[in-house]
Amino acid sequence: MKKLVLLGGGYGNMRALHRLLPNNLPEDVTITLIDRVPYHCLKTEYYALAAGTVSDQEVRVPFPEHPRLELKYGEITNIDLENKLVHLAEDEPVAYDDLIIGLGCEDKYHNIPGAKEYTHSIQNIGKARETYQTLNNLPANSVVSIVGGGLSGVELASELRESREDLVIKLFDRGKIILSAFPERVSRYVQNWFQTNGVEVINGANITRVEDRTLFNHDEPVHSDVIVWTAGIQPNRIVRDMDVEKDKQNRVVLTKYHNIPVDEHVYVVGDCASLPYAPSAQLAEGQADQIVQVLQKRWSGQELPEELPTIKLKGVLGSLGKKQGFGLMAERAITGRIARILKSGILWMYKYHNG
Ligand SMILES: Cc1cc2nc3c(=O)[nH]c(=O)nc-3n(C[C@H](O)[C@H](O)[C@H](O)COP(=O)(O)OP(=O)(O)OC[C@H]3O[C@@H](n4cnc5c(N)ncnc54)[C@H](O)[C@@H]3O)c2cc1C
Repeated sequence: MKKLVLLGGGYGNMRALHRLLPNNLPEDVTITLIDRVPYHCLKTEYYALAAGTVSDQEVRVPFPEHPRLELKYGEITNIDLENKLVHLAEDEPVAYDDLIIGLGCEDKYHNIPGAKEYTHSIQNIGKARETYQTLNNLPANSVVSIVGGGLSGVELASELRESREDLVIKLFDRGKIILSAFPERVSRYVQNWFQTNGVEVINGANITRVEDRTLFNHDEPVHSDVIVWTAGIQPNRIVRDMDVEKDKQNRVVLTKYHNIPVDEHVYVVGDCASLPYAPSAQLAEGQADQIVQVLQKRWSGQELPEELPTIKLKGVLGSLGKKQGFGLMAERAITGRIARILKSGILWMYKYHNG
């Protein structure tokens, strides 16, 4: 029997599982999935979990079941490429024949003193839960500062606004205008929403230091009862520690078949992979589709195509609370209620197909 080991049950590896199971897994292959948590987490909804507008159970999806799928729960500590072993904190090492590394990302603090120690995070489920508790235990009129006006910072600020009208919410963003990666019309729409709904947006921010309950913007102190960091990501520490070629963002450089150049049995999916697009759940899924196609061909000894097709991305959608949204679909900017309905619809479909 050949053993395929999946590290991390996030969007990438969940898609790989659903492409292989129940009927497309060759008879001589078994799968072991290893994750620290016993369910697939809907990371794209962590902003709502942290704001307290959805329950914990709503961001969990069960892993599939299959006689040749072993689910192993534990903390992965490192990957030994030479001996084909995955090391766990409190369990025996797991051997693999083929490996898909899909361990997602962590916050990046850009060497800003105090940022790691004094800010909250929504980058993994445990941290998002802690952030939820801290935010929702705050007394009235407390000040919450969110650093980073990208998609997750915007979604968190708006959701928290709807969840807690009494809080003072400040959103610090480096750019001249929020969501600088989006068309200006979208940025202006979002900035107006914040103005109308009483979220203070601080453009052109430069956070130079963080201390307990204090943020320094251009070295000026800003008192904040809670600070949430949404200002950058980097691949999981385990991947950063791997002795393989990486790009400037520390993501693993891959061949066109998504395996590392020195080993055709080791694939990297999702936020840890160096791909010509910004990391996203959608990208992780598109890449996982291709990895499964490559695996199936390699398992059955078929020749691989000269080139794999370009991964098709449908666009990006963001929420502004429960009623409004924004996004880019097929390169067209959309704002308002329709964007929010589309986003909810996509989440519903995802749960329907994966739950
Ligand atoms: C607030 C927010 C909103 C977002 N919105 C969108 C959106 O609208 N659309 C979109 O496409 N993308 C969105 N994203 C990005 C998207 O969530 C990620 O790109 C996607 O989750 C990456 O998938 P992945 O498979 O690489 O890893 P993940 O989905 O992050 O999964 C990684 C898995 O690895 C496990 N793991 C990590 N380390 C260990 C360890 N040491 N031991 C054991 N297990 C471990 C984790 O438990 C997790 O299950 C959003 C992100 C955030 C934070």
